[in-house]
Amino acid sequence: MTIHFSCTMCGRCCNGLRLPVSVDEAMAWLRDGGDVQVFCEAIPWPEDPAADNRPAWYKHRRSFPATSGSLPVRVIVSLMATFEGPCPNLQPDLRCGIYERRPRTCRVYPAEVNPFFQLDRAGKLCPPEAWQAEGLLQNDDGEWSDPEMAQAVVRMREADARDAQVKARVCALLGITMGGLSNEGVVVHASERGRLLAALESALDADSAVGGTNAGWSIVSNRKATLELLRSAGTVSTGASEVGSNGISYMGFLASDAE
Ligand code: SF4
Ligand code: SF4
Repeated sequence: MTIHFSCTMCGRCCNGLRLPVSVDEAMAWLRDGGDVQVFCEAIPWPEDPAADNRPAWYKHRRSFPATSGSLPVRVIVSLMATFEGPCPNLQPDLRCGIYERRPRTCRVYPAEVNPFFQLDRAGKLCPPEAWQAEGLLQNDDGEWSDPEMAQAVVRMREADARDAQVKARVCALLGITMGGLSNEGVVVHASERGRLLAALESALDADSAVGGTNAGWSIVSNRKATLELLRSAGTVSTGASEVGSNGISYMGFLASDAE
């Protein structure tokens, strides 16, 4: 479906957000004095999917292997630059103070990076008039019309895949072993800025997490049926109500029935 769009420079996408950032962008954000949180989700992965299951292989590409109890899982880690209110880089005239080196996620908005997600205008922050413009955002073939945006989408996917093993080492270095069940919620790990930066810098070295392990993950849910199912599958599972200290919290996407 053809989607028309033109940015109105309203600045809404620079306010009160969690921006997904790559490892290199997270380090730059932390060095600038910003905050980054580590979002973890786990996918039970008893065996690899069929070769033509492209959505599953896309998840595989951006995740790392781990175990929860007796079950193999894949863990997707998202690094989120966080801020309340206006982004610390937003200037009074609503221009970006780090425009040339702004995160890729700022370059692609409101496009979708996941090739299996359809752009949902209602889920975006852009005002109605932005979608009524003459400019073209996406053509009938699903291609992004702006070459810079299209290239940033490709770069984000590449960084996602490249960073997966670095993130595995970051988790091992920081002792992170809890993730929400994918599609139901995420576990948010808020580490002290200097500690997270040091872990990211160390994790660039492939030998950095020697002695660390990606075993012993616990899958968190706020739903009774999910917890029962996970336990019957052999995982170690934790109720969301048991999570909520030491900088760890649970963010559920579905209504809780387990509290
Ligand atoms: S880095 Fe720049 S473009 Fe990105 S949210 Fe902040 S002000 Fe907006
Ligand atoms: S919310 Fe949309 S229209 Fe507003 S500045 Fe961001 S991209 Fe542009």
